[in-house]
Amino acid sequence: MTNKNLNKQKNWRRCISCHHFAPKDYFWRIVRVYPSNQVQLDQGIGRSAYLCPTKECLSIAQKKKRLGRNLKTEIPEHIYRQLWQRISPPVKLTEPN
Ligand SMILES: [Zn+2]
Repeated sequence: MTNKNLNKQKNWRRCISCHHFAPKDYFWRIVRVYPSNQVQLDQGIGRSAYLCPTKECLSIAQKKKRLGRNLKTEIPEHIYRQLWQRISPPVKLTEPN
């Protein structure tokens, strides 16, 4: 039955950078919350953009301002910083020898 497939695809989203199509859970979700217009990650109700959790897609989204254009707002620097941290967590300080 095709109906079942259609239902499944409802939760599929497209990456704003590479246009990869995948289940929603695969992506990072960036939300411009309604009605405050605050941009935040993962949670909130409003306009959302989806991005693959990869360096490539993050840098395209940032350099080409895809994210801002998609959400029709300025993306605060700290949002990008948080996303970059997810890719490369801050290096742990090691004990000096
Ligand atoms: Zn992508």
